[in-house]
Amino acid sequence: EYCGPGIEKLNKLKSENISVVVKDFYRKPLVIHQGHMQWLFDHEGKRYLDLFAGIVTVSVGHCHPTVTAALHQQIDTLWHTTSIYKHPKIYEYVEKLSAKFPGDLKVVYLVNSGSEANDLAILLARAYTGNHDVISLQSCYHGYASSLLGLTATQAYRFPMAAPSGFYHAMLPDPLRGIWGGCRDSFSQVPGACSCPGDCVTSDKYIHQLNELLENSVPKGRIAAFFAETIQGVNGAVQFPKGYLRKARELVKNYGGLYVADEVQTGFGRTGDNFWGFQDHGIQPDIVTLAKGIGNGFPLAAVVTTKEIADAHQKASYFNTFGGNPLAASVGKAVLDVIEEENIQQNSKIVGKYFIEQLMELQKSYPVIGDVRGKGLMLGVELVRPGTKDPLEVIGVADILEMAKDLGVMIGRGGRWNNVLRIKPPMCINKEDVDFAITVMDKVFKVFHEKN
Ligand code: PMP
Repeated sequence: EYCGPGIEKLNKLKSENISVVVKDFYRKPLVIHQGHMQWLFDHEGKRYLDLFAGIVTVSVGHCHPTVTAALHQQIDTLWHTTSIYKHPKIYEYVEKLSAKFPGDLKVVYLVNSGSEANDLAILLARAYTGNHDVISLQSCYHGYASSLLGLTATQAYRFPMAAPSGFYHAMLPDPLRGIWGGCRDSFSQVPGACSCPGDCVTSDKYIHQLNELLENSVPKGRIAAFFAETIQGVNGAVQFPKGYLRKARELVKNYGGLYVADEVQTGFGRTGDNFWGFQDHGIQPDIVTLAKGIGNGFPLAAVVTTKEIADAHQKASYFNTFGGNPLAASVGKAVLDVIEEENIQQNSKIVGKYFIEQLMELQKSYPVIGDVRGKGLMLGVELVRPGTKDPLEVIGVADILEMAKDLGVMIGRGGRWNNVLRIKPPMCINKEDVDFAITVMDKVFKVFHEKN
């Protein structure tokens, strides 16, 4: 039973003690009190199907019993030591995590957040290459730290002040809105996805632009790294034309830079076919960054790289008080156990495919649904002004999200115009949950169409 402060008191505390930049997602703010697997419960006991999973973070289910038990066991034994002593849980975890990676990606740094992981990845790339500059994609989100304000390109997170120097943003190879269009990558489960026999022809055009950047903007030979997600998360499940990431990696490597795969959202089986998103593209990164789903909601993140790159780091020492503490490592290991024992990746693939097919059916009835995309349980539904490709106004999107929430389904949102519904639930959801979500969305779109 909920015994915390009432909503008026929470609102007062928020206005007095919490920064104005922390926004409530819903117009009528939700007080979330409990969670169990794919469900959340508010302070009045109302149940919601959680399709956003604490922003793609709760990977195997809220308060999953195996993960909770592992945490309890460790809480009663030892909380903290720092990495200056050897703790078996940390070593066991690092062994298990590194075994999930192909090739020579074997050295693991445990940290506390995705931002910290990407910040460290920049440092490693710079230390190894001796170069400074970094390229990422337009509209990307790679974290929020002052060092990352150049890397992250999402407008909403950029301050009206000079960003750190040496960051460039390549044109986003966006099949829907990029100037050269493109088809979905061939790995997509979307029926009728890319039919190009080899790489999508548009990928060469976007690669040409990346080449221009390397030739004309980055000081010659000074590229340290190219950062990309394998499907953009915050930007609303944007997938790239077939071949783009592979060619971008080759190109950047030819110029002396490393390829960093940000798997903060796409990792741990979320895309269904493979454990890591980069494997969907058949490419091998030099550095991989992990966060969110790695800890199922517990603060844990990691950077994984090769021994050769990590060795370049010896130019200075490295210390992180909480990075890889026994509690986080116990949780991380339990998350990997659950993913294996409960066939979570397979579930993402099967339920994700079912979900996208149902969403495509819904699209046939509602012209406000401009695009349905994604892979596994990393899905996006882009809302447009009916009959056009223009993004639906923010207020219309908010109406839709609010109605769905009132009917018991919590959906995320993102995209450059904040008009993409983001569906990235805990990966334990099943087909009945999808049926429920689709019934609710059908009702919501019907009401929306009658009103507009
Ligand atoms: N990379 C990606 C792709 C993300 O989506 C996020 C968070 N939304 C981050 C990095 C940063 O993670 P954190 O919020 O844990 O710092």
